[in-house]
Amino acid sequence: RDPNVKKPAWLRQRAPQGERYTELKGSLSTLKLNTVCEEAQCPNIGECWNGGGGAGGEGDGIGTATIMLLGDTCTRGCRFCAVATSKNPAPPDPLEPEHTAEAIASWGVGYVVLTSVDRDDMPDGGSDHFARTVKTLKALKPEILVECLVSDFRGDLSAVAHVADSGLDVFAHNIETVKRLQRIVRDPRAGYEQSMSVLKHAKGVKEGMVTKSSIMLGLGESDDEIKQTMQDLRDVGVDIVTLGQYLQPTPLHLTVKEYVTPEKFDFWKQYGEEIGFRYVASGPLVRSSYRAGEFFVESMIK
Ligand code: SF4
Ligand code: SF4
Repeated sequence: RDPNVKKPAWLRQRAPQGERYTELKGSLSTLKLNTVCEEAQCPNIGECWNGGGGAGGEGDGIGTATIMLLGDTCTRGCRFCAVATSKNPAPPDPLEPEHTAEAIASWGVGYVVLTSVDRDDMPDGGSDHFARTVKTLKALKPEILVECLVSDFRGDLSAVAHVADSGLDVFAHNIETVKRLQRIVRDPRAGYEQSMSVLKHAKGVKEGMVTKSSIMLGLGESDDEIKQTMQDLRDVGVDIVTLGQYLQPTPLHLTVKEYVTPEKFDFWKQYGEEIGFRYVASGPLVRSSYRAGEFFVESMIK
């Protein structure tokens, strides 16, 4: 962390509690599911799993959890991300889509975010793995809502379409930061235009497709640059945007340039709604999948 920038009180973590959280946690150990929520020790776990934003995370909304596919080793090395990297990660388990879908279907969460590391080593970038997981899961449990938070597939639009057309409810791909900072923040194989083209293509795959993206704040971006990024996302049809504080995962990663205040995050929520997003989640601890189930349902009845 930049020694001149102190971590403020509003980023303090809350201990997860709540009935549904306890239940989900209890049943998880037998299912061999890797949740990002637990592995990343996400501070929102109580709120997300319980499906509610009350003080203790109590709620009767739809619970959200994030599951990681395609292993734990990424072929890229973004400077904000603590995931392990390698040029040649182990090949994924060919039966992972079916096994994961079965485990999720029996688990009891209402909204699931499927995500993964980037697999530039696989010819299809892992897109068929996503598509098979969605198809199997929807066949087993049609009422579950599924979001896929995917890589840019190196700009391979047929891979994008394969995932977008799999029967999912939300197609998500993160732009991560403003245009000027892309090279500093993300792996050089990622890029602003490439990510925008992925989002644009997914949107056009079928009528009514819901798309989503996410921006980290506190990396040195200006307000005008944030506005431009939000407008560019709107211009490619993105429906839902989330904004959260960047936190440095280890001393080897990019330093935090600024801790954006909760009031400023509120400003961005209002701004985003004014320029036409169906839903904006914005706050210091907001992550791309934060309470995604509740917000999705809310955005659809708007
Ligand atoms: Fe899990 Fe995402 Fe919620 Fe964190 S924000 S608890 S990773 S669903
Ligand atoms: Fe992390 Fe994703 Fe970048 Fe891989 S591509 S290093 S998982 S942010």
